[in-house]
Amino acid sequence: MAHFEKAGSGKNSSVQFATHPSDRKQIWRATVSHGTKFDVVLWGGDSLTVESPGGLLTFTEGKSPGKDRRLFTITANSYGTLELQARHSNGSVWDTLTVNVASQTDKLLCSQAIKLLKHKSVAKMQFQIGPLQVTPARMRGVSSLLQSGEVFVRYSPSLPLGAYLRGQDELQLPYQSISTDEQKANACHELSHALMDQHYAGKPLKRTVTESVGYIVQFIFFRVARPKLTVDKVKQIPVAIAAFEAAGEVIANKRVSQSAQTKLREALIANGIYSNQSRMISYDGI
Ligand SMILES: [Zn+2]
Repeated sequence: MAHFEKAGSGKNSSVQFATHPSDRKQIWRATVSHGTKFDVVLWGGDSLTVESPGGLLTFTEGKSPGKDRRLFTITANSYGTLELQARHSNGSVWDTLTVNVASQTDKLLCSQAIKLLKHKSVAKMQFQIGPLQVTPARMRGVSSLLQSGEVFVRYSPSLPLGAYLRGQDELQLPYQSISTDEQKANACHELSHALMDQHYAGKPLKRTVTESVGYIVQFIFFRVARPKLTVDKVKQIPVAIAAFEAAGEVIANKRVSQSAQTKLREALIANGIYSNQSRMISYDGI
């Protein structure tokens, strides 16, 4: 089965490779800074054509390092989520190496997200809604995904709020720095979606459940960061008020009462942005 692998020892401190769980040499994603040049090997793909859609990655093929091995030197000279594809002669894609080219802002946001997961509020993130369980250990576990590049953080200025793209394992944040309490709370919300992607792959969840969890995590951060905050000072929209109250219950008792869960669920359903709350959502894993 042809696939992309690390070249040689694979030691390249400027590249973070995401590897396949059953074969740590096999790679599916590389996270690099703009301008980085690095090598990968295509194993068993002698008959395949290698190309980068849109020509966004520059690459050259070098001398084969051994039987069934083709060596490619890639230069990351565009920003974004780029691909190197190995295709059959009929055009079908056999294997893809995703190359995330990080800007300075992306790297700053990633390091701030890692730091955020060390905030004292994370110790309070212990509760369950439906089948979905949040624990401090699971939240902190997301930082290793950020460190390894398995979850990528991208500055996405066109978005109104943060988002987590489960197919790409990508956290998209519309601000250049996670600085204010509002930004930190929003980033905590999106990081909880990465937790769901890691622990609930292939288990369909109600969107009311995933969003309830996201908002409770968001407001746990907010309430711990601002202990004097009262509900009348919270943005006066029903979702925020309900999540503020549910977060208070978690901080006090590590659980959310049925009445607080119902209130939050109904607020989410009533909110136009979440009009599809009855839909199920399926995470695909990191
Ligand atoms: Zn969400």
